[in-house]
Amino acid sequence: MNSCQRAAFGAAILAAALAAGGCDKKSDGNTGAGTETSPFIATAVALRTEGLRSERAFTMLADLVQPVGPRLPGSPAAAAAVEHMRRVMDGLGFETWLEPTTVQHWVRGEETAEMVDAAGRVVGSLTVSSLGGSVPTPESGVLAPLIEVDSFDRLDALDSSARGAVVFFNRPMNPALIDTFRAYGESAVFRSGGPSRAARCGAVAALIRSVNPRIDDFPHTGLVEYDPAETRIPAAAVSTADAERLSARLKENPGLRVRLKMTCADLEPVVSANVIGQIRGSDKPDEIVLIGGHLDSWDLAVGAHDDGAGCVQAVEALRLIQACGLKPRRTIRAVMFMNEEFGASGGRDYAADLRRKTERHVAAMESDRGGFLPLYFTIGGPPSIRRKYIAHDRAFRSLGLSGIRAGGGGSDIGPIVQQGAVPMGFIPNAQTYFELHHSGLDTLDKVHPRELELGAIVLALGAYIVSEEGF
Ligand SMILES: [Zn+2]
Repeated sequence: MNSCQRAAFGAAILAAALAAGGCDKKSDGNTGAGTETSPFIATAVALRTEGLRSERAFTMLADLVQPVGPRLPGSPAAAAAVEHMRRVMDGLGFETWLEPTTVQHWVRGEETAEMVDAAGRVVGSLTVSSLGGSVPTPESGVLAPLIEVDSFDRLDALDSSARGAVVFFNRPMNPALIDTFRAYGESAVFRSGGPSRAARCGAVAALIRSVNPRIDDFPHTGLVEYDPAETRIPAAAVSTADAERLSARLKENPGLRVRLKMTCADLEPVVSANVIGQIRGSDKPDEIVLIGGHLDSWDLAVGAHDDGAGCVQAVEALRLIQACGLKPRRTIRAVMFMNEEFGASGGRDYAADLRRKTERHVAAMESDRGGFLPLYFTIGGPPSIRRKYIAHDRAFRSLGLSGIRAGGGGSDIGPIVQQGAVPMGFIPNAQTYFELHHSGLDTLDKVHPRELELGAIVLALGAYIVSEEGF
């Protein structure tokens, strides 16, 4: 279909949705919390119809992750992903370009861990994964007594016993919290900050229980954030099953030691890129509504949920807007940020780029919570903005959402939000997200095409409403 046919087809969908009574409460499945009728309900139905019939977001995700593989910043695969997504957006007829960002290029190498008893016998191996950015062990490895703690307070209360030891942070995620991101945050601090805290106590290496609510054999990696004031010690995540086993063995045998070998390395930094595509606004082209995700991933799997999902949802949102024949007043821009996992340089460089001087970012939406079923739409900034947009509650409800709540944000859009963009977005059902996050389980088969598509439809509707209404 050429662009004229597409526009005509889109207009036909919109007309059909209107004729079919897309704004009718009963036929549309609205649960009816809002009392106002949004002029965007028909748009929502048109976007929903096109999206759910085609499920193109999933096709795009498969086309990205299957040939390219894991997209660790600085890797050849990340460079291939940049070119691939640019080609995809070019092919859809969007205005497309790259903006440079320099990234750390860390490579994993080999990694082994063994339990060793007081007599020097190996009594079991452990499934580990070096933390991103970790220094390697010496070539012969580290062999040291093990000290287990479940908090920084416990670590700080130790006498000199951590000196020369491997500190093992064994803090399970709290299963009682309904907000899995909060539970993640409470345990992930040991991964990001634990190694330097252990080094301060004289430890020679750190092992961290994977931040995973399930007991299984998959280690979950993530970035270690070294404190420049402390010695950099090697750090690895151990699978939750092996964390349990290690803890039990240590109770039976307080003299247990661990031998850790890691050959990871930091290579020269690499100039990579954020990938950008947009539909130019017909009325206020310099006012930008940003939607996006991050294109890089960890190296243990293809990052289908984290964050291939967010990238293809942003591109699919643009495609849906185009396919429905919508002509946004403000520019709607999809940004696939690079390097979120290794310090978010892509988000910072995007906000600092000189091109931003002539633009005003009205709103920014980042999808980086997994490609799961969207639950509700979020709007940040002053409450007056949410009060204005609550008029469109029914439009969001027609996509199966439970409405609009306060919230929004993300690490890549943080810098542009600081410059005045209103953070917006959607919250998906992330109850199972941390079972696969940053692990070998984050694969395409874990993503449901319909759930993924609904996220793209929500982004398309949110971005289009802001492009029409502004603030
Ligand atoms: Zn992510």
